[in-house]
Amino acid sequence: MRIQPDVFLIRGKASNFYLCVAEDGLTLIDAGMPKEQQSLFDLLDQLGHQPSQLIRILITHADIDHAGSLAAIQSATGATVYASEQAAIYLREGKSPDHLPRLMQWFSNTFFKYQPVPTSCIKILSDGDELPVLGGLEALATPGHTADHFSFYSASRGILFAGDALNTRNGRIQRTPKRITADEDMANLSAIGLLKLTPATVACGHGDPLSNHTVDDLMAFFNELRQSEH
Ligand SMILES: [Zn+2]
Repeated sequence: MRIQPDVFLIRGKASNFYLCVAEDGLTLIDAGMPKEQQSLFDLLDQLGHQPSQLIRILITHADIDHAGSLAAIQSATGATVYASEQAAIYLREGKSPDHLPRLMQWFSNTFFKYQPVPTSCIKILSDGDELPVLGGLEALATPGHTADHFSFYSASRGILFAGDALNTRNGRIQRTPKRITADEDMANLSAIGLLKLTPATVACGHGDPLSNHTVDDLMAFFNELRQSEH
């Protein structure tokens, strides 16, 4: 599904990932669950692109539903992986960061590993780094859901790739639920920081991308978060 002229949503079984198309190469944002690489390759095929034209894979955070097919996609394309320093540690181990209730976390650590990516393929992102994608895509540290979490924002396009720092449900922007949040206060601060950007399009890891919200909708959510801080 096309969400901007050169931005495509790939709906995975458990999460969204996004493809940005440009003449000088393609960029993927997140990489779905394990064994979902084919949905990317099918889209590339439909668009008339070769896998080798994918040059970057940006990872919002190292949860299995965002990094599950990363190794398969990276090895088939040769793309460089961009991730925060903390995310890179998890990606090298094929492990999701801790942020679940205790039993679920144990279950996840024991049974839900994904294929790791070699260190040599990963470039570390710092807060504020800008990538040459969509007229300048800024990497923003947005910890809370997980400590390793980054979001990506193109000011010129007004599009925010929020990963799991925000999600959408029934046409509303909201925060990722408390029970799967590592640090509530940090998550609120990160969400507030993202709302301050007043993104025209909010493309999250879960829920439909949203473009029909108003500034009032953003302000209402902003105030809700501000109040929940105290
Ligand atoms: Zn997550």
